[in-house]
Amino acid sequence: MVKTELAILVAVPLSLSAFTFGVDDPHGLDTVYYDTVTEDGFFTGGMLQLPMEPMDGLIRSGVGEVTTLLNNGPNANRIDIVFVGDGYLESELSSYASHSNVAMAAFLNIEPFTEYQGLFNVHRVDVISNESGVDHDPYGTYRDTAMDMAFWCSNIERLLCVSTSKAWGYANNVPSADVALAVANSSKYGGAGYTSANVATFSGANSAATDIAIHELGHSLGNLADEYFYTNDTYTGSEPSARNASTYDATTMASNGAKWAPWLGENQSQWDGLVNTYEGCMYAAYGIYRPTNNSMMRALGRPFNLPSAESFIIEFYKIVDIIDDATPCCVVDEEAVVFIDTLDIAHPYTITWTLDDVVLGEYESDESVDLSMLTLDEGYHTLEVDVVDPTPWVRDEDARDAYMSQHMQWLIQVIAPACPADINGDGTVDVADILAVIDAWGPCPNCDADINGDDVVDVSDLLGIVDAWGDCS
Ligand SMILES: [Zn+2]
Repeated sequence: MVKTELAILVAVPLSLSAFTFGVDDPHGLDTVYYDTVTEDGFFTGGMLQLPMEPMDGLIRSGVGEVTTLLNNGPNANRIDIVFVGDGYLESELSSYASHSNVAMAAFLNIEPFTEYQGLFNVHRVDVISNESGVDHDPYGTYRDTAMDMAFWCSNIERLLCVSTSKAWGYANNVPSADVALAVANSSKYGGAGYTSANVATFSGANSAATDIAIHELGHSLGNLADEYFYTNDTYTGSEPSARNASTYDATTMASNGAKWAPWLGENQSQWDGLVNTYEGCMYAAYGIYRPTNNSMMRALGRPFNLPSAESFIIEFYKIVDIIDDATPCCVVDEEAVVFIDTLDIAHPYTITWTLDDVVLGEYESDESVDLSMLTLDEGYHTLEVDVVDPTPWVRDEDARDAYMSQHMQWLIQVIAPACPADINGDGTVDVADILAVIDAWGPCPNCDADINGDDVVDVSDLLGIVDAWGDCS
């Protein structure tokens, strides 16, 4: 008979994703979006290139408490959003806490953040400034604050900029932080999204602050373009990289399959509007299209549209791995239960286990396989698992394969025992092994006392013991 004496399991994660802070430009320029709100509720602003400050990974001291506001698991495999405040005195930390709480509640309440809330941790670092308020609020006023936040950056009134290296210095008080949300102690309209630095800014005390914060996350986390435009401008650039802006009209998109071609004609209630191509996007009225008539990348109080949601979800999975924990590699015994632990989102992952390329049907939606339930022949076997996020909010199947799927495999080596007659495994074939045969006498498939593997424990097994009598280590 064959006994699973040694099972070697090797974990091979094939789709490890890592999140790095790159730069848009080798010369160290970052694309920065800036936004404010018009009287009729539309966003207005623009985009420019600003020099990128070095991300030195230093942790700045001089902070009060670091508070985790939402905890969904270990930071290393979560999207960690960190609030850092500027222009708050120690006596104003309670209003900073309230500004942060309002912004957090707002973005967790909008899709796709609600569905994917389990991927996020949210933290607040109590940064204390020497003076209250930020620069140029009002114009010409300068204040000594921790992160140098200022309006009128690059001579643009609503460009609320921040020292990204200082913002990260404070955000780094949270290990493995991914996105910094810099909150200005101000009620003046303004905000900015630094796409490479992964920093967004907003005014904590502004009535539109939460929507500006969400909109800026669209830039910094979702890699989204602005969908508003100015009359008479014609777009002359190349095809944008953002998934929610395109130079192709619907007819072209339908034939070349680019951008949001899979979404044309879709209209789902939780997302903003009928997907088509609407001329006017990225500050130009002509020559460039947005996916829906309106959306959070265009106006206050709107949901995101489907192509934007798809972009967010893909970006989320560039930061986290679906499999949060799993059976480690190497030696397990034949009774081992091989497991994976997936992230908690609001819908189930599709989990497929295969053994030697055959799907183990009964395990399909489970997170573990009990090896003792399998009959494994002598030799090598491969146990594999494939986990996929099947969300219908993503139709870019290449991106789903690249970022929203994970594969692991384990090698199981099954070796026949060197001395099958040593039933109790004590290194000697002796009277105790004879007694084990007598105990198991009769039909007995798969049992250790069935030395010759004919599914019956009988006199031929007793003879096998006599043949092997003595030391058998
Ligand atoms: Zn914007």
